[in-house]
Amino acid sequence: MQNTDKNKLKKVWDECLKILTDIIPKEEFAVWFSDITAVKYEDNFLYLEVPTSYYYEYIEAHYIDELGRTIRRVFGSSTQLRYMIRITDANLMTMNSVNHSVVENAPQQAPVILNNPDIKELPNPFIIPGIKPIKVESQLKENYTFENFIEGSCNKFARSAGYAVAQNPGKTAFNPLLIYSPVGLGKTHLVHAIGIEIKKLHPEKTVLYIGADQFIRQYVKSVQDNTTNDFLQFYQMMIDVLIIDDIQYLEKKQGTQDIFFQIFNWLHSLGKQLIITSDKAPADMVGFEERVLSRLKWGLNAELQIPDVQTRIDIIKKKIENDGNISMPDEVIEYLAYSVNTSIRELEGALVSVMAHATLSKQDITIDLAREIVDKFVKSNTREITIEYIQKMVCNYFNISMEQMLSRSRKGDIVTARHISMYLARKLTKSSLVAIGDKCGKKDHATVLHACKSVENSCQIDKNYRKNVEDIEKKIIN
Ligand code: ADP
Ligand code: MG
Repeated sequence: MQNTDKNKLKKVWDECLKILTDIIPKEEFAVWFSDITAVKYEDNFLYLEVPTSYYYEYIEAHYIDELGRTIRRVFGSSTQLRYMIRITDANLMTMNSVNHSVVENAPQQAPVILNNPDIKELPNPFIIPGIKPIKVESQLKENYTFENFIEGSCNKFARSAGYAVAQNPGKTAFNPLLIYSPVGLGKTHLVHAIGIEIKKLHPEKTVLYIGADQFIRQYVKSVQDNTTNDFLQFYQMMIDVLIIDDIQYLEKKQGTQDIFFQIFNWLHSLGKQLIITSDKAPADMVGFEERVLSRLKWGLNAELQIPDVQTRIDIIKKKIENDGNISMPDEVIEYLAYSVNTSIRELEGALVSVMAHATLSKQDITIDLAREIVDKFVKSNTREITIEYIQKMVCNYFNISMEQMLSRSRKGDIVTARHISMYLARKLTKSSLVAIGDKCGKKDHATVLHACKSVENSCQIDKNYRKNVEDIEKKIIN
């Protein structure tokens, strides 16, 4: 299909939409697909216009498989996708479908066995048949760069270790580099950033990113097809930097652990770099052979922690900056950063929802809108009220700064604010007196208890005071 005229293009695109309505839940379809227009079809590229880059990112992250399959089915199997993002009404920015544009490895001379004409089908999905020398797809996503990975005390150590590895892959003591954390805190992003940086600094190195689940599937298939030797050869001969994401999936998978062990030893002995992620530290991993665990502990293990509020704010700002097209009031940014404290993935989810709702309903982005969405749409509708958020709201109410609140000042308003935030922290969170004291300027638990009693007393004798406390509480829980 080349240069289809507008009407015909619309018809064909409508056909895609029809198929997509069957695969994608109705509400989601309405949010993400009803505002897309097919603009043109040229040189095998289908251009879709989307309202903001959030659409593009969201669609790429959540629906690319369904969308890609449908487009190839309707427009032809060689069709590729490009997005056009509306910057102003007259201005469009073009983006490639990231999931299909990879950071490319240079072609490699294939090992003899893989060049053997008796092998009809090349055994590994990363090898593009018919091309010799063979090219290994790195599977790296372009936008997961160091540049886009905000630094905070939660990730400083892991980030700088990763950065060091990228400068000198295989040549530092950080081999393997193992990064661990619960879900949604940036492991996948960080290991991509390392891979991308290596490709930038050492273009001759062949980098491969692979999810452990995919690695397992490949191995199982090679056993079924009797091609395990080729599988092993591929990893041992072709790869300079091997990134395996979510190694915990190998738990209790003896066969895959064995082959991983062999690949690991081989690559390590040749000074190739291994980068691995896991949802917990090796010491806490169960269902693994001891010899595998011991390998994982060889190099450096670095943890990613939940970012503090300032880092969360910086991450939101970076996202907005990358989007280039949206203005969001600081108080909304702060609200999101304070109230979504589970993981960065959830934080991004909340941000994307707020953007989408503002765009769809053509409303301004306000704190009320954000609140509504955080309550309704963020998975953690068990939204936890944090001590920091309480402090922030109390400070706003009394018009004082956080520094003043945490200082040793004995000024009337500041003392009152400090007492009320301790009282509300005790009432509205599950935190212990010790934890509250710690967050409220390193006070001991007796001081917190004293503050709570003093607020209760004041509420009983002073109507205005009680009203203030009730007002603040309402603002916090609403
Ligand atoms: P994990 O692999 O630990 O589950 P991801 O790497 O998938 O986490 O991160 C979840 C989301 O949060 C991704 O969209 C990622 O880009 C974003 N993210 C994580 N850490 C940061 C950071 N430090 N700066 C900016 N974005 C981040
Ligand atoms: Mg991940």
